Amino acid sequence: MNARPNGLIISIDGPSGAGKSTIARLLAKRLGYLQIDTGAMYRAVAFLVSQKGIDPGDAFAVERLCNSADIRLDSSNCSQRVFANGQDVTELIRTPEMSLMTSRISALKPVRESMMMLQRRMGRDGGVVLEGRDIGTAVFPDAELKFFLFASPEERGKRRFSELVGTGERVTLEETIEAVSRRDRQDSQRDLAPLRQAEDAIPVDSSLISIDEVVKKMEEIARKKIHQAGITT
Ligand code: C5P
Repeated sequence: MNARPNGLIISIDGPSGAGKSTIARLLAKRLGYLQIDTGAMYRAVAFLVSQKGIDPGDAFAVERLCNSADIRLDSSNCSQRVFANGQDVTELIRTPEMSLMTSRISALKPVRESMMMLQRRMGRDGGVVLEGRDIGTAVFPDAELKFFLFASPEERGKRRFSELVGTGERVTLEETIEAVSRRDRQDSQRDLAPLRQAEDAIPVDSSLISIDEVVKKMEEIARKKIHQAGITT
């Protein structure tokens, strides 16, 4: 069943604040797989757009940037670091302004095309957990295992709020819930690769069960698949 040299491709899609990053990191660690945070890649492009003062409405300038941008994820240490043209932008891409800018530029064709190409190159040999919005529907519609992770908007807003407060951002809970909902609207309503559940994805509601329980459940399913596929690595 599985022809990939390093194992399965596992996709985790879903709206912001559903716990995708934490869950993808823990699941990848337990399986000995590589985690690929595709949201961080879009955020790194948004960072370059802002840094260079490019107008997101200027299609030529955005395309030129995408053709020359060097976006990298480095997982060689315990935490994943994100690099944009050689600069470590791991923390800089997590501000509320950068989240909204990312949602805006990720609707643009050259941005999606270049990131999709890069993500396919990074994941095609398997042994990866990719998290994002369109992995199971557009990037790897042939992924061996797909999850769609969601939670109530209030719960997602609360989680995002504590993350932001933890990094010293001065925001209110109401503002955060509003920003999360706005981003979800933009991500779900765009023309290209909108956020949506793939037909063959397993839905997982993370509102009522702990992150550890979610990871445990996903790991069980993944191990069964790995066993069925006869993968020994
Ligand atoms: O996952 P994260 O919240 O970091 O993603 C930031 C933004 O990047 C999302 O709101 C979405 O606009 C965009 N994104 C995307 N496709 C992906 C991953 C993220 O459009 N596969």
